[in-house]
Amino acid sequence: MAVAPAHYDAIVLGVGGMGSAAIYHLARRGRRVLGFEQFDIPHELGSSHGITRIIRLAYYEHPSYLPLLRRAYELWRDLQAAAGEQLLFLTGSVDAGPPDSQVFEGSRKSCEIYGLAHEVFDSAELTRRFPGYRLPASTMAVFQPEGGFLTPERCIVAHVNLALAAGAEIHAREPVLAWEPTANGVRVRTARGVYEADKLVLSAGAWIAKLATPLAQVAVPERQVLAWFQPARPDWFGPQRFPVFNVLVEEGRYYGLPVYGVPGFKLGRYRHLDETVDPDTVDRASHLRDEEILRHFAERYFPAGAGPTMGLRACMFTNTPDGHFILDVHPEYPQVCIASPCSGHGFKFCSVVGEILADLAERGSTRHDIAMFRLARFKS
Ligand SMILES: Cc1cc2nc3c(=O)[nH]c(=O)nc-3n(C[C@H](O)[C@H](O)[C@H](O)COP(=O)(O)OP(=O)(O)OC[C@H]3O[C@@H](n4cnc5c(N)ncnc54)[C@H](O)[C@@H]3O)c2cc1C
Repeated sequence: MAVAPAHYDAIVLGVGGMGSAAIYHLARRGRRVLGFEQFDIPHELGSSHGITRIIRLAYYEHPSYLPLLRRAYELWRDLQAAAGEQLLFLTGSVDAGPPDSQVFEGSRKSCEIYGLAHEVFDSAELTRRFPGYRLPASTMAVFQPEGGFLTPERCIVAHVNLALAAGAEIHAREPVLAWEPTANGVRVRTARGVYEADKLVLSAGAWIAKLATPLAQVAVPERQVLAWFQPARPDWFGPQRFPVFNVLVEEGRYYGLPVYGVPGFKLGRYRHLDETVDPDTVDRASHLRDEEILRHFAERYFPAGAGPTMGLRACMFTNTPDGHFILDVHPEYPQVCIASPCSGHGFKFCSVVGEILADLAERGSTRHDIAMFRLARFKS
């Protein structure tokens, strides 16, 4: 007689930044939850590796992110207390660009709307305060003291360890091959077996469009490259003296972080080479042309940080057409939740996205305002 598949309250597909947080919240609420990860936990083949990720309250992308950011900070602090390990480091954040740019103006607007502490500097004042910065003379900058960085691999490990302690089951190196709706839930087939659950959370990062066809044109993976350069003035590039940044210059929009964890001042460029990729075949090596783009920027705008290369690492963004997240229930199957919060700025939200996904899996709705992240906005 065939043995019935094991049954869970929820299955979480993908144990990266978002999935690990969803499993943690579901397990803490007493749910029987099972997570599948195709690679190791953590790993360097998706979107959540590279030692540091920027977190900031000043949010030029849209002021509506602020309530979620506040909850995200609260939950990161809870997580690091529970894990007994510092995961959140405050350095302040700088958002800088031409006076009429979205990076500067949008950031200032978000500070004003929400009454966030902030200072506005011209380029000369920015360099006086933070000597690593040498931005064009016409640049204007918003400094917000609560910005900083998270340690992404450690955040995933913390969520996973605490989820396991709360009773979750997690299988690494077990790729999900397919899922299908059933009369009262979902059935998931992996390389090792068949499992059933009332609810399914799809948190598959760059692979999500392969697992949810409605996302085919709207969750598009892009190759990114990060560089770490050895500063000639290490005293200007440590977390005490160097705020995380987003800057818009004539070459494009870039982000950067102080030296932490591994040698080197870290930076990357949004729309690095504008390469749309398949996550299964993406070029994960880093090449001279990748390095040259990032070195040119560092030499011009952070010259004391542009010493010998210490590291290069490829990673993937998953971009939506408007740069905002997708957090929703599946349009055809209400028992399935979809999380694609990336477009290059999602990691800082993992903690609150985990809470939202647990809400959606439990009852199909959440107290958080996620109206801006509905999938239906992309329908013409
Ligand atoms: C270079 C870079 C820099 C960034 N900088 C910042 C920053 O400074 N601040 C910020 O807030 N955000 C930043 N981001 C964005 C942020 O890192 C992402 O939004 C976030 O990591 C996405 O998490 P995720 O859980 O969706 O994806 P992932 O963490 O990649 O997790 C998805 C997981 O699903 C697994 N999976 C996929 N398919 C299957 C399957 N069939 N079976 C089993 N498992 C599967 C994958 O292996 C993976 O582990 C950056 C991203 C990159 C790439």
